[in-house]
Amino acid sequence: MNNNAQQMHEKRKKINSRYEMGVSWRLFGALLIFVAVMLIVIWVFQVALLNWFYEQSKMEELETTDKALSAFLTKPQELNDTANFYAAEYDECIRVFIVENGDAREIVKDVCISHTCLIHHVSGDTLSDYCSKAMSSEDGVYIAQLAHSDTHSRPNTGDFGTVYVSVRESEGSVYVIMLNSDHVPLNATVNTLQMQFSWIALILLIAALIVALSVSKSVCKPLKEMGQSAEMLARGNYNAHFRGGNYRESQELADALNYAAYELSKTDALQKELVANISHDLRTPLTMIKGYGEVMRDIPDENTPENLQVIIDETERLNELVNDMLDLSKIRSGARKPEPCEFNLTQTVNEVMARYSKLTERDGYRITFDFDREIYVRADRTMILQVIYNLINNAINYTGEDKYVKVVQSHNDGIVRLSVTDTGEGIAVEDMPLVWDRYYKVDKVHKRARIGTGLGLSIVKGVLESHNAAYGLNSKLGEGSTFWFELEIVRSEFIALE
Ligand code: ADP
Repeated sequence: MNNNAQQMHEKRKKINSRYEMGVSWRLFGALLIFVAVMLIVIWVFQVALLNWFYEQSKMEELETTDKALSAFLTKPQELNDTANFYAAEYDECIRVFIVENGDAREIVKDVCISHTCLIHHVSGDTLSDYCSKAMSSEDGVYIAQLAHSDTHSRPNTGDFGTVYVSVRESEGSVYVIMLNSDHVPLNATVNTLQMQFSWIALILLIAALIVALSVSKSVCKPLKEMGQSAEMLARGNYNAHFRGGNYRESQELADALNYAAYELSKTDALQKELVANISHDLRTPLTMIKGYGEVMRDIPDENTPENLQVIIDETERLNELVNDMLDLSKIRSGARKPEPCEFNLTQTVNEVMARYSKLTERDGYRITFDFDREIYVRADRTMILQVIYNLINNAINYTGEDKYVKVVQSHNDGIVRLSVTDTGEGIAVEDMPLVWDRYYKVDKVHKRARIGTGLGLSIVKGVLESHNAAYGLNSKLGEGSTFWFELEIVRSEFIALE
């Protein structure tokens, strides 16, 4: 980290610690909201709506009993059993009458289980009034709620009950079912619940605080440690190790940071190696240029075209080296990505061959190209052209005394293979995997200064790997080498015979 960035980082850290809320407080806040919502819901259901729920359930019980009794009005035994059962089950008093000449007279069933029961204690007139109201109602039901003080049964206690009267017809007779359900006063229950409610609120509040503190501690600890490791990494310490704690997400973050640290350390090592190689490779031609230039300046006789040619050659070499370095770094960093398009591979090789025709005429090289059809592939044409150039260039540089280079285009199962063969010294088996590394030279002594930048095959490897293309090398010492690569065929055309 440079000084400026470091100062900014320290400043930001101070500001963060002053203004931004930590995980524990945020978590506590969230839990507090959750607890508050839970308490409100509990209060609404358990306290505010308790009475309403109670009355609803009482009404449902009365309706259930009415339904059950209505089914057995003409069957005395079943009616008796059903009435006894529901009276016990729901704490209800039951009276069933048969109506004759408009008056409810004969009692078919009478169960009284409570001394506060309204239907056994209100006046006969009141009951007759309820019956006529039930008869005139649409569903044959009348419901009345009475305070016990309205009856003769009790002094004013504030308790009350529900009287449920229904008029039913069965086998030509009319029956009246009267049910009574006493309501227990809920004030005491509500008071108890309210007290419990305060305790529950207090306990939940303390639990929320404890949970927030312990969770935030276990989440924050690895995050803090990772922050410290990241600072070490920023200061150039690539041994910084990131530990993610017990959570999957923080573990994933730690893995990603460890991977980043590893990649950074690799990049750093590569950068150092590159700087060393570059300075070495650049220094050689620059020394030559400087040396020859000084000689030509100081000794007039040395001002010859040959010496000038050396300067021009070395400048060209420098140019080639810099271009190759740029190409390679672009490919390796991913800045230069393949832009695939369909093109004629066969024609592209032929174009390269045409450019070498001068060389073959002047220096006696023989370069042949075998192909039986024109093959189209989908790839980055400029990059593939660079590959073909590099392979043919190497073959020319390293071929044997016969100066022969053979380029062959073959195909099999939708795949085209382009191979470049020379008759040179070949490459030893142990060197074969290494020639693709940058700056690797089999013969480090004499050929380095004369030909090549030592980057050609690394560029070939980078390009072909970015295309997911297969490539390789077959070689035998003393017999020569064949470098090849393969691409998928898009289509092919037979060459028309003239
Ligand atoms: P250079 O620019 O030195 O040729 P390359 O990356 O193209 O760099 O090749 C790396 C090394 O692989 C060469 O220095 C050479 O030792 C070896 N090499 C490449 N092509 C051939 C070949 N056709 N025959 C023998 N050796 C080769």
